[in-house]
Amino acid sequence: MISDRTTVGIVGGGPAGLMLSHLLHLAGIESVVIETRTREEIEQTHRAGILEHDSVRLLVDSGVSDRVLTAGHEHQGIELRFGGVSHRIDFRGLVGSSTWLYPQTDVFTDLATARERDGGDARYGVTGTAVVDVTSEQPGMLFTDAGGTPHEIRCDVLVGADGSRSMTRSAIADRNEFFRQYPYAWFGILCEAPPSAPELIYTRSDRGFALISQRTDAVQRMYFQCSPDESADDWPEDRIWSELQSRLAGEDGFSLKEGRIFSRTVLPFRSYVCEPMRHGNLLLAGDAAHTVPPTGAKGLNLALADARVLAEVIERAIVGRDRSTLDTYPTRALSRVWRVQYFSHWMTTLLHAVPDASDFDKQRQLAELTAVVESEHGSRFLAEAYTGWPTT
Ligand SMILES: Cc1cc2nc3c(=O)[nH]c(=O)nc-3n(C[C@H](O)[C@H](O)[C@H](O)COP(=O)(O)OP(=O)(O)OC[C@H]3O[C@@H](n4cnc5c(N)ncnc54)[C@H](O)[C@@H]3O)c2cc1C
Repeated sequence: MISDRTTVGIVGGGPAGLMLSHLLHLAGIESVVIETRTREEIEQTHRAGILEHDSVRLLVDSGVSDRVLTAGHEHQGIELRFGGVSHRIDFRGLVGSSTWLYPQTDVFTDLATARERDGGDARYGVTGTAVVDVTSEQPGMLFTDAGGTPHEIRCDVLVGADGSRSMTRSAIADRNEFFRQYPYAWFGILCEAPPSAPELIYTRSDRGFALISQRTDAVQRMYFQCSPDESADDWPEDRIWSELQSRLAGEDGFSLKEGRIFSRTVLPFRSYVCEPMRHGNLLLAGDAAHTVPPTGAKGLNLALADARVLAEVIERAIVGRDRSTLDTYPTRALSRVWRVQYFSHWMTTLLHAVPDASDFDKQRQLAELTAVVESEHGSRFLAEAYTGWPTT
């Protein structure tokens, strides 16, 4: 067993963990990140794709990379489509802001490369992670490195950024868990086709929700609502295209550009919050503390927002020698978390078909959509929340 120490130990090398490590480095604070997957595995896992305005600024202004500005695509709005008709929500015109299409795989690559460039200590491919003594002055993380050597690293502050199946949060014995399960999931595909639209199309149809998104000029990402126990193997290409086309069909004759489907996955989701986000010297960040349904495109953005607040709080605790500031983290982080929970839940229920919905429910949902697109205030609320409330 190799024993070592650092200032901040971070379990999980996703966006939350790596961004935190980067921001701490800028503040002159040493950290070690441990991650079970290899860099290559993470770079090949497709997840989120939409960055809020402030997430883009964080990547660029903190010196991670400005690749998002050259390789990403600015989206100045989205389309809400229902009753076979599209309605544009003009972010720029309504709130003077925008979002950026930039895949999570690229965000990860930028962060991992920046950590390597700056001499950061991120250890990929570890196994057997455990956290110990989290309420003591010297909490620790135990793991076996990719070469098979066991390690123990003691630190001043330990951060659990280990994603939605977090092992670290189980160290918080009397945690409160708030969650909502949804009676539907998303069927996600990646296909080789040109874009069908320049911006995202969020569609509500009687057959269920669909989302048309993009990746590159030659690869597209699309989703449609399905049952959580759907099997991806039961969906040959023809069936997928027919389902997507019928959900998008309308009087304007819109149709999707089809192409070879090379990835299909069923993504169950839920709303979840773990409180408190701090226990002794263990603090949770990102999906380890909360998950949201993907409809509002918030999970990745919320993970980055946590990292920003946490870096600031840890800097004051370590450099300013005022450990009481750690107490402020849960309150500051949770005020955003719950607003994002509300928005993601609202977007989800606004657009998905409930399996046993009555005629009243369906009419009420259509009326709600109409109210959003026909009211400037309704559209502005959506634009403001989707592009992201300010993080500072
Ligand atoms: C399939 C899928 C699709 C998604 N699509 C969207 C989307 O379209 N829009 C959106 O906004 N969000 C989406 N999300 C959510 C978004 O990807 C997450 O919110 C975001 O990744 C959270 O970042 P994080 O760093 O908190 O967690 P993660 O990215 O999950 O990173 C946590 C890391 O910790 C590592 N880890 C886990 N356990 C251990 C351990 N014991 N020891 C060491 N390391 C460990 C994991 O390997 C992982 O790399 C999606 C999520 C999934 C799973």
